[in-house]
Amino acid sequence: MSQARSQIQQRAGSALREGYGPAVRRFEIASIAVFAAAMAWLLLRFLTQVLEFPFLTASAFMLGFVAADFTSGMVHWLADTWGSVDLPFVGRALIRPFREHHVDPKAITRHDFIETNGNNCFICLAPVTLTAAFVSFDGWQGLFVGVLVFSLCLWIFCTNQFHKWAHSDDPPAVVAFLQRVSLVLPRDHHSVHHTAPFATYYCITVGWLNEPLHRIGFFRGLERVISATTGMLPREDDIGRDAAEAIVEEEQICPGNATNPEPG
Ligand SMILES: [Zn+2]
Ligand SMILES: [Zn+2]
Repeated sequence: MSQARSQIQQRAGSALREGYGPAVRRFEIASIAVFAAAMAWLLLRFLTQVLEFPFLTASAFMLGFVAADFTSGMVHWLADTWGSVDLPFVGRALIRPFREHHVDPKAITRHDFIETNGNNCFICLAPVTLTAAFVSFDGWQGLFVGVLVFSLCLWIFCTNQFHKWAHSDDPPAVVAFLQRVSLVLPRDHHSVHHTAPFATYYCITVGWLNEPLHRIGFFRGLERVISATTGMLPREDDIGRDAAEAIVEEEQICPGNATNPEPG
């Protein structure tokens, strides 16, 4: 075990759990309701065009699936790496679930539909609503944008559910099949992220982009840029200042050493 890993200190799971109160719950319910209405609105806006451009529609839909995987990685990395659960609103509603998930990975399997999916519905509200309101669907360009945003937000909506199944001991048979053929985030694949210091394999929709992003050092590169410009220390709130500093030092000496998943 590396020096950095031995210094990891996380918050107590019970304290993180207490951050989930009635106000957050009401926010999630409202997010899901408004998201469902916005998605229906967007679908109705472009639906009549779909049969006219079937291949374009299929391409945009597929691109949305991959883009959702990338987006899940970006959002997950942001929430794992920066900020604190003590921040007003964003800390409790968006960062806290990620911190809790590292301390108690099985907690997500005990979350109901609202707690599992509320946050992602909120994140998707702006793109869906703005696309439905302002994109013109007269030509193929508008259809492409509309289907892309619809697909992206549909799969982002599904992401936490897919993530929850990746932690479930007994997912539905059809889900287990989709996991085996890598159309839904596979369990073994996602377990790589849950190896301390939780610093790789952030994509949690299907995981197709995890290995390429890991190999090119995508998130370490972003962290170096953000640290250099803001002075912030990545993962400080998640694993403690000592471990976070040790990881940065190890990464400078030997890139990939501290944040590579440990075998076995
Ligand atoms: Zn994480
Ligand atoms: Zn997980």
